[in-house]
Amino acid sequence: MTPEQRFKCMSHNRAKDSGPELRLRHALWLRGFRYRINVKALPGSPDIVLPKYRSVIFVHGCFWHGHNGCKNYTVPKTNTDFWVAKVARNRERDQEVWRKLEAKGWRVIIVWECQLKKSVFYETVDRVVSEVRYNRESYLSEKENRRKARLDYHLTQKARKEKELALKEEVRAL
Ligand SMILES: [Zn+2]
Repeated sequence: MTPEQRFKCMSHNRAKDSGPELRLRHALWLRGFRYRINVKALPGSPDIVLPKYRSVIFVHGCFWHGHNGCKNYTVPKTNTDFWVAKVARNRERDQEVWRKLEAKGWRVIIVWECQLKKSVFYETVDRVVSEVRYNRESYLSEKENRRKARLDYHLTQKARKEKELALKEEVRAL
């Protein structure tokens, strides 16, 4: 397939509901993960969203998103500048989306399409599962830290007020 054909093909349906992404979703489902797909309300409409794990997954086409060092990402010999610029723009957009999501407390997992081919599929699923679990752990511990910080703050405030009151009492007693 020439890059031009590949481009046409991907702009068509971005391999959305086809093979690789579907298989990843299915594998996650079988392992008990529940998710939503193509969530328009979040920046970049992530392909897979796991709310409980504060994780979003993007399945990226290697050519379209410029997978570094991947054999599926070779810059075409014709219209080279065009393709280089096009992929660079996509990458910038990806990074922007990433930043926005992280700012909202989501953790972003990128899965490249080449990582979903049969020979490495389960390796990739394992990697995604452990990242997703790790994200939940760190989300929960951050939440707990925030709770503790709030509690500390209230206790400090309370202690300060009590001190002030005691001081006032002392002054009054003089
Ligand atoms: Zn790749």
